[in-house]
Amino acid sequence: MYLILRCRKCGRFLYARQDAKTKRCVCGYTSKISRMLKVDTARDEREAGEKVRYYQEKAHGPPGFVKFH
Ligand SMILES: [Zn+2]
Repeated sequence: MYLILRCRKCGRFLYARQDAKTKRCVCGYTSKISRMLKVDTARDEREAGEKVRYYQEKAHGPPGFVKFH
């Protein structure tokens, strides 16, 4: 199981394994998973990646507006 999380500092969406203790965002902010905002869950890493992209587009507009890769 994977969790879809949102960084409290920059607002990016991230995913992490449910049993992970901390997650480091690409902005450099490291947070305990238990303290992060949980947006959704996913069954596997592929689904988690798709959901992150979905939420990211919903929050920040269509692809191309902000690049994360
Ligand atoms: Zn961040």
